[in-house]
Amino acid sequence: MSGLLFVISGPSGVGKTTMVHEVVRRLGGEFSVSATTRARTARERDDVDYHFVDQATFQRYVDEDRFIEVAQVFGRNWYGTLTAQVTDALKAGKLIALDIDVQGAKNVKRRIPHAYAVFILPPNEDALLARLHARGREDEAAIERRFEEAKKEIDFAQTSGVYDAFVVNDDLEVAIDQLTDLVRGQLLAASRNG
Ligand code: ADP
Ligand code: 5GP
Repeated sequence: MSGLLFVISGPSGVGKTTMVHEVVRRLGGEFSVSATTRARTARERDDVDYHFVDQATFQRYVDEDRFIEVAQVFGRNWYGTLTAQVTDALKAGKLIALDIDVQGAKNVKRRIPHAYAVFILPPNEDALLARLHARGREDEAAIERRFEEAKKEIDFAQTSGVYDAFVVNDDLEVAIDQLTDLVRGQLLAASRNG
């Protein structure tokens, strides 16, 4: 089967991480581990969830041209997708999934137009706010900042033309099934087109 570059975006707390890992597991793909200057949370593992690096290391990676795209998210921390991870997976004919923000998705699409980009929507704003709280990862101020950013991201996603499809994550199992079907369809199409 041919490789596929699959981009997933959505507002913080919508359920992307939960969904993308399950889709990758079901379809036998790989998750692209980004580098970030953000602090690791208690539940996260270095080199599994992210490569957690300091500002100087991140800058060195930029200078060495190791990123396919970088973005400063929520106006503070830097995040970047490592080019080698993406190209190695594609060369090996694998599905590679990038959980990146709207700026990243736009930049990846510009460089690799046949990338398949899906945006995950919450059923409504209240549900999104509840999930940000339920995750219990940030303090109230950070949750408020992520919630305000979420509304702007959704607006951008719906008007920019960057995304090929939208999935509403209301019932998690249903949403994962829908996303799996969409990505499987793209994998099949990619393998038919060689
Ligand atoms: P993201 O990666 O988009 O920030 P997460 O995958 O970390 O989101 O999910 C945020 C929280 O919402 C987690 O506590 C997760 O278990 C929960 N969650 C995900 N999908 C749903 C859903 N459909 N209904 C209720 N809670 C959900
Ligand atoms: P979090 O801090 O919640 O893990 O991620 C915050 C945001 O950064 C999410 O929207 C996530 O998709 C995005 N993100 C994670 N890694 C990357 C990356 O390598 N590039 C870009 N552009 N965004 C990323």
